[in-house]
Amino acid sequence: MTRKSIATATHAPLLLGATLLLFIVIAGALFLNLMRLRDSFSWVQHTNDVLLAISGIQRAVLEAETNERGYLLTGIESYNEGYRRAHEAVGSRLDSLRALVGDDPAHVARVDELRLFVDMRTAQLGRVIELGPERMREALDILEQARTDQLTERVEASLTTLTRVEQGLLTERMHKHDRESLAAALITACLLILAVGSAAIAAFLLEHQRAAARQQEADQRLQDLQAELMRVARLSTMGEMSSALAHELNQPLGAITNYVQGSRRLIEASSHPDKARIGAALDKAAQQTLRAGAVIQRLRDFVGRGETDKSVESLRAIAEDALALASVVTRDRPVDVSLTLDPATDRVLVDKVQVQQVFLNLIRNAFEAMRDERERRLTIASHPAAGSMVEIVVADTGPGLDARIAERMFQPFATTKTDGMGIGLSISQTIIQAHGGSIAASTLPEGGTVFSFTLPRADAEQQSVPAVDVAAG
Ligand code: ADP
Repeated sequence: MTRKSIATATHAPLLLGATLLLFIVIAGALFLNLMRLRDSFSWVQHTNDVLLAISGIQRAVLEAETNERGYLLTGIESYNEGYRRAHEAVGSRLDSLRALVGDDPAHVARVDELRLFVDMRTAQLGRVIELGPERMREALDILEQARTDQLTERVEASLTTLTRVEQGLLTERMHKHDRESLAAALITACLLILAVGSAAIAAFLLEHQRAAARQQEADQRLQDLQAELMRVARLSTMGEMSSALAHELNQPLGAITNYVQGSRRLIEASSHPDKARIGAALDKAAQQTLRAGAVIQRLRDFVGRGETDKSVESLRAIAEDALALASVVTRDRPVDVSLTLDPATDRVLVDKVQVQQVFLNLIRNAFEAMRDERERRLTIASHPAAGSMVEIVVADTGPGLDARIAERMFQPFATTKTDGMGIGLSISQTIIQAHGGSIAASTLPEGGTVFSFTLPRADAEQQSVPAVDVAAG
């Protein structure tokens, strides 16, 4: 991971956390604002209650005065009762007004002052009622005194002050609430913009992080493919080099054969006492040279590119050539090979070099699988199959198929070997399918792996191709 992508990987979760926190703060701020709104409604309600109580007192005082006059002028008892009711109402409304403004000491003092004036006024009214129309002269004196004292005006003034103060308080509270609401709304809006911004940045960083991971994966895959391509290219160069080497070696081998045969003729014509033994040794030397030539020819056939056309071939010859090539690399661990091919299905219509490669892949895999086994036995058998095909079976006594790979072993680059390329079986499958056949593998119940594939049989009337001259260069 690059430094930049590590920074992105740590920043994105942090930003997401911060965004979440901001949204929680915003939710809290909105909740507080709602509570404030509820408070301001209750303040309006409270002021309404106070104003109602004040007007109630005003009405009750007026009623008390009206009833007092009525009683004094007429002496009718109902005026007396009306006065008493109004007097009681004034007391109880003063009590409830005091309770309503109880949390404001200045307001309480104003109510107490009002109560004082109201009490004084009602005391005057009470005396006038007591005197009644019978003692009109004294009652009128008290009324005269009341006008001088201006108690009614004082009560009125006190009630007006209370009303004004209460309305002022409400206005002040509403202004304060408006200011605070505006500030809270502004802060909430800023937080919201911040939260949306950080959420957008976090989303961008996460997407960037994902894109970087995808890019890294693609780069890695490309690197792997490049490495595989280089290996394939190296192998192909090696194949071409082997072909050139085989061509170069053919001439000295031919020369050695000629020299050995010349020496054989010379020694025969001589009278050397050991000429029989020397002749036999020279014969063996000539045989080994021919063997070396045959091995080189097989190698050339195998790596050579030229022929790709199908022709009638001997299955046995192809299998034997592949075995000979594969045996070169397993001399240290000999394998017991059993080749039981059905002679009736020997002729096949195939591309010899390609089918040889299939045999070689399967035989080499079997040899490698049995490398550490005590019993190393390879069986190659063939028998007729449906649709003018021949089925070839290649079985070994190795450990069987690895469960990790059994499902995809015919796919390119599927391998369990540390130095394996995983292309042998994929190439083999392509070749067999190009011949109209199929290939499959399974693990035997008694252990070991068995590969089976089918190839088209050659028709009896088709011409067979003459065998290649092993020594030809
Ligand atoms: P490679 O030999 O380079 O791994 P192959 O395509 O030839 O590539 O084989 C793929 C895999 O199939 C091998 O790595 C091995 O795990 C498994 N395999 C092939 N032949 C045998 C066998 N005879 N016994 C057990 N496993 C085998």
